Amino acid sequence: MTKKLRWSSVIIFLWALLPWVLMDVAQAEVSTASTAEEPLKIFVSVDMEGIWGVVHGNQCSASSPEYQLARRWMVEDTNAVVKGLFEGGATEVVVNDSHGSMRNIIASELDPRAQLISGSPKPLSMMEGIDSSYRACVFVGYHARAGSAPAILDHTISGAAIYSIKINGIEMPELGINAAVAGYYGVPVVMLAGDTETCRQAKELLGNSLVTVPVKEAVGRLAARNYPREKVLAELREGAQKAVSSLKALKPYELKPPYQFEVNFHTSQQTESGALIPGVKRIGPRTLTFTTKDFLEGYKLMRALISLASSI
Ligand SMILES: [Zn+2]
Repeated sequence: MTKKLRWSSVIIFLWALLPWVLMDVAQAEVSTASTAEEPLKIFVSVDMEGIWGVVHGNQCSASSPEYQLARRWMVEDTNAVVKGLFEGGATEVVVNDSHGSMRNIIASELDPRAQLISGSPKPLSMMEGIDSSYRACVFVGYHARAGSAPAILDHTISGAAIYSIKINGIEMPELGINAAVAGYYGVPVVMLAGDTETCRQAKELLGNSLVTVPVKEAVGRLAARNYPREKVLAELREGAQKAVSSLKALKPYELKPPYQFEVNFHTSQQTESGALIPGVKRIGPRTLTFTTKDFLEGYKLMRALISLASSI
């Protein structure tokens, strides 16, 4: 009798627990499913001067016969990266064409799994399309800041207008400005490809955990030793794969507010129109400065000043 009672108590106890056990199993299934389906979106900005094989401005200009070959190299470098990103676990890759007319990448030759943002002007220029839904950002074909040597086609945004750009006292290459745009949305830059000097500047600014893939070594501004093609394509693919699998090693590049921009132009005339804008100060014949609380607001004003300088 006592034994029978004990067994029935155990059965009643287990019966009472059953709904909780089932609920836990169901929740475990839900959380596994959501992890498996969690999107891993990667944003890729592709410039042209840092593409393998490119050493001269003619190769980056649609009016030159050399351009057609260089834009093919551009899509090949990009495809190697896109392939590696998907192999590393990316579920969505958006490529933003970021050079000149921004119509360089041959749309039909891009890896068909990727989306292509093509054409200009666009509000965020080289970073158009970025938002907080992305987990990481990759820069391909990037170049060193104005005043670097030896470095292929070094410049900052506009070779004709800009001598240097400083934000909060730091002299910025495009990769730094664009990393700060990504940082504004909480997205880290995880990989960069370009010449050896650009890779050095990227690590200096964004940290040693950044995956960099040097595709060539400059021997002057218009001459470089290009590394073996097949090796470069393999390294771009492997680098992208590695960058996705080590996402947590890198934090977004976030500058501290307020954001003080200092834009140095080549000529005094290039500052004259920009100096008319409220909030913009001309602190030297060739230098404009302004401060904003919001980084993106400052980034847009800086670009407007460069457009004004370029229109004269
Ligand atoms: Zn460019």
